[in-house]
Order: sequence, then structure tokens, then C-alpha cells
Amino acid sequence: MSAAETLQIACPHCHAINRVPGARLHESPVCGRCKSRLFAGAPFALDTVHFDVHASRSDIPLLVDFWAPWCGPCRTMAPAYEQAARLLEPRLHLAKVDTEAQPSLGARFGIRSIPTLVLFHHGRELARQSGAMPMQGIVQWARQHLPS
Ligand code: ZN
Repeated sequence: MSAAETLQIACPHCHAINRVPGARLHESPVCGRCKSRLFAGAPFALDTVHFDVHASRSDIPLLVDFWAPWCGPCRTMAPAYEQAARLLEPRLHLAKVDTEAQPSLGARFGIRSIPTLVLFHHGRELARQSGAMPMQGIVQWARQHLPS
């Protein structure tokens, strides 16, 4: 992405679309509506209602961790995923979908095992990977599949 470009970024807190100049992505931009930071350095929980605004309308890719509270490997990977957010933002957003609370999203994307990471951009699936990964593995895998 070029620094002169203006990007549409969906707010992780209130889900409003914000227009942010590419050059200001690294300056901790805040949401025009709710004043929350657009990049909080942590994954955010995403539900069925707000999924598409982040996966389709946002100009930055969205990495989603499909998980469930009863899944041991998911809980093991959670701190690594948190740390990965600090390294990968603002190049992309990281979200978590609880497949038990949001079963329609798990069904829509054919999630058969958890944890599964899926990278989305402009409504398209760029890559997916099942199984728990360490922080470095998550970061490398995501960077490898980001659109140029
Ligand atoms: Zn907001």
C-alpha cells in the first residue's frame, strides 16, 4: 500500500468505517466515532453481525482465529496470538471468532478443526492454517500470505 493512499479501516470497537491516510497508520489513529484506537495491539472478538465490515469492507487484511472456549490448543495459542497482534498491526487486523458462540460463522467458512487461522482481504480468503502455532509461526505465516 502506498503512503499517499487513503485506507478504509473498520473500528474494532464500534465497527464504524474510518478513512485513514496510509502515512498515518503508524501514528496510533483513533476512531472518528468512538475515539477508540483503531489498532489496540490486541486481537478483538468478532461476531456474525459485524464480520463482513471487517473481512470485506476494510482495506487492510483481517486475520481470524476460529477457536472455542473448550479447546485446549486454542487456549494454549491465545497468548501467542495476542503477541502476534503487536507485531503485525497496523499491516492487518487480528480478530477472534468463538465458534461456539457464533456457530454460523464456523459453518459458513467450513471450519472443521480448531484452532484455525484464516486470512481475509476484501471478502476473499487468502490463506488458512489449522493447528496451534507459536507466535513466530503466526507472524511468519501471516506475512507470507499478505497481499503485496
Ligand atoms: Zn469506533
